[in-house]
Amino acid sequence: MSTTEDINTLHHPVATIKPSKLVILGAGESGIGAALLAKQQGYDVFVSDGGPIKEVYKSVLQINKIDFEEAQHTESKILLADEVIKSPGIGEKNELVKKIRAKGISVISEIEFAYRYKGNSKIIAITGSNGKTTTTALIYHMCHLGGLDCAMVGNIGYSFARQVAEEPKPLYVAEISSFQLDDIKTFRPDVAVLTNITEDHLDRYDYKVQNYINSKFRIIENQQKGDVFIYCLDDETTMKNINRYTIKSTLYPITMSKELPQGAYIANAKMHLKWKSEEMQMSIDDFKIKGKHNQYNSMAASLAASAVDIRKEKIREALQTFESLEHRMEPVVTIKGVEFINDSKATNVNSTWFALESMEKPTILILGGVDKGNDYSTLTEMVTEKVKAIVCMGTDNRKIHEAFGSIVSLIVNTSSAEEAVQAAFHFANKGDVVLLSPACASFDLFKNYEDRGKQFKQAVKNL
Ligand code: ADP
Repeated sequence: MSTTEDINTLHHPVATIKPSKLVILGAGESGIGAALLAKQQGYDVFVSDGGPIKEVYKSVLQINKIDFEEAQHTESKILLADEVIKSPGIGEKNELVKKIRAKGISVISEIEFAYRYKGNSKIIAITGSNGKTTTTALIYHMCHLGGLDCAMVGNIGYSFARQVAEEPKPLYVAEISSFQLDDIKTFRPDVAVLTNITEDHLDRYDYKVQNYINSKFRIIENQQKGDVFIYCLDDETTMKNINRYTIKSTLYPITMSKELPQGAYIANAKMHLKWKSEEMQMSIDDFKIKGKHNQYNSMAASLAASAVDIRKEKIREALQTFESLEHRMEPVVTIKGVEFINDSKATNVNSTWFALESMEKPTILILGGVDKGNDYSTLTEMVTEKVKAIVCMGTDNRKIHEAFGSIVSLIVNTSSAEEAVQAAFHFANKGDVVLLSPACASFDLFKNYEDRGKQFKQAVKNL
């Protein structure tokens, strides 16, 4: 005897009875977002984290009845997955990842997964070695002022997947790391921004810079005619590599070195924005955020906003009102005529170069931490020109001494924010700047760059 239900089950056994098994490796912001979206979409979800899971995230999993484990990976369960979403923090050298790959299980990133369920919404995606967060926040500020219903996802705010699950929007402004791009398949932003490429995270790319470059360029891999690609003509690595890839989207470059028929450029201290038949000019002195790097970020953001039809007046207003973000060239306070700036987010040499470039006063530079393969020689000119003393703040400062010992006469070692700030203040005279722009990661002495920046600010306030 068979009922109608039995017949349906027979005809559609997989679709109706067994949702596909999805395993999520890593329960950070992106893993939790992916888990929520997957549960909502009817997957059989299992979250596995090799370390402890934060309490807030654990309760999200419990409330939503999502199966999980922490401080272990149960291989037998994980290897049964139809698909795995891998946290951007887990590299290919991980033994479990190798086994998953060997079994031929599909591995995707959280942004790829979120992309599947975003519907008709648009995406502006921002990647690059430096300036991602600033450019993302600036584009969001422009879109928001321009009246678009949008969300900023990625590093600030929710992960892309969580936003799609909990509060879908017609437009997402998404900050995307190269690790997220490593595991995309169909992810296709309507507007892609590549700020710049400098050596970073080489430890994750077998110390092959080409792998890292390829990964960044994947942002345009699925773009089609009608999509937009914004990139920097003045960025050497971008320009050396751009011809290696097939680009179908429309190109909108930014530059400070020549006039352009389309795109954005700066000439005679004015930004010129040329978007299709629209034109706008604005003095760079009217930008709220300062420094050459932020002029690049401002050009990129203005083009991205133009691509989603934000009006010139709103772009102008946004550039006049956008506040710098915490830990990014953040003015802290001036004490006895000595200005303190927190640029703790500068975790590579290129960021520190731009920070120094924007210094207009004699600078005491606080430098050091965990170096991801830094070549300090690119800083030689800037340091010679602007830096009167270097305060090393790290457990191993040898490379800094080797690089700058013959240029800067005052170099000292310190091993805490408190010590570093006191030493820097000791060297400073009225009219000088103390700049924390370490060119290194922070985890030898601090939890992360935020912790480093906060401890720096506290130490300055204790002076
Ligand atoms: P990301 O999110 O890519 O790390 P942020 O916007 O957080 O970038 O900025 C990180 C650091 O990089 C800042 O401290 C700043 O000094 C520097 N920076 C910002 N924008 C640029 C840029 N366009 N080029 C080079 N350095 C930049």
